[in-house]
Amino acid sequence: GKLSSAKASANIKVVVRVRPPNEKETGDNSRMVVKVINDQLLVFDPEEDSQPFFYHGVEQKRRDLLKKAHKNMKFYFDRVYGFDASNNDVFETTTDSLINRLMDGCNCSVFVYGATGAGKTHTMLGHAEHPGITFLTMQALFEKKTELSSERDFELGVTYLEVYNENVQDLLNPGSTLHLREDGKYGVVVAGIKVKRIDASEELFEMLDKGNKNRTQHPTDANAESSRSHAVFQVYMKMTFKTTGQVRVAKLSMIDLAGSERGAATGCAGMRFTEGANINRSLLALGNCINSLAGGLKHVPYRDSKLTRLLKDSLGGNCQTIMIANISPSSISYEDTYNTLKYATRAKKI
Ligand code: ADP
Ligand code: MG
Repeated sequence: GKLSSAKASANIKVVVRVRPPNEKETGDNSRMVVKVINDQLLVFDPEEDSQPFFYHGVEQKRRDLLKKAHKNMKFYFDRVYGFDASNNDVFETTTDSLINRLMDGCNCSVFVYGATGAGKTHTMLGHAEHPGITFLTMQALFEKKTELSSERDFELGVTYLEVYNENVQDLLNPGSTLHLREDGKYGVVVAGIKVKRIDASEELFEMLDKGNKNRTQHPTDANAESSRSHAVFQVYMKMTFKTTGQVRVAKLSMIDLAGSERGAATGCAGMRFTEGANINRSLLALGNCINSLAGGLKHVPYRDSKLTRLLKDSLGGNCQTIMIANISPSSISYEDTYNTLKYATRAKKI
């Protein structure tokens, strides 16, 4: 009914992060095509600012005057982050709020979406000096655990797996392909996966680092470090209330999605075309699921891909979802950025 769809809509938050231009993007063959207006609005492909451009003291006409008109499109999101936003800023205004939801027993999921090189891994993992939101969220979770320790006993376990070519692999115990099962009692179960116990957020870096070394990496023309796989980090939490013995469980999933660029744009062919098709299938299915949920539709096509099957118990219903769309500010990534903004818009509540 109306009430339940309004509730479902409220559980999806969509934000966009624009990373700073890199060296290549500050050169002559690049212009900025994203302008952050305020913390909820950006303009894609804005009409050029009226800053005059002088050459030998003579004001020049805009070089691209004869090219097609600028799109000059406004995009609104729950939050927009410009160049100056840090991982900590993103954390404080996105996943920090999930801690209380998890304490209430809600499953939560966080996606970083975007083309290769747009800043997904920077946002999710970061570096030792600039930890990403995974570490910051886990740190906050451990703080909350300490805060509530007189009231509840906690058991925390994590898994780190990748979905590559519609296959699920355990990144912490590499080797065999894992299969998904649906269990009436436990929801989605990854058969054979080892849940690794974790007692402090410091253990995370090493674990994620080890897991990342096991990721399927295929250099593409677009970026030698690109990955065509989805990396799924999950935290299983069991809380036992000391006075009543009541048990509450919750799960947090944080997903570094494969690059959203099209196969054609990265020079894929043959075998790689299948990879691209499968990855697009997961991204497409995810978009369709989130879109259905955001619109309050009854049918959510979870079964359309491995990724959405895996996350079935963490999307929709009482779950909280955050989508962080990452984009480059430069004209070099014009199509990718436009496509990412469209995808993110579709994920918003209707
Ligand atoms: P993706 O995972 O989407 O392919 P990365 O996170 O690897 O992209 O980012 C590509 C490059 O840009 C990396 O060198 C990364 O350090 C840098 N980068 C990305 N986002 C930011 C940011 N917000 N601030 C500074 N550097 C960034
Ligand atoms: Mg990456």
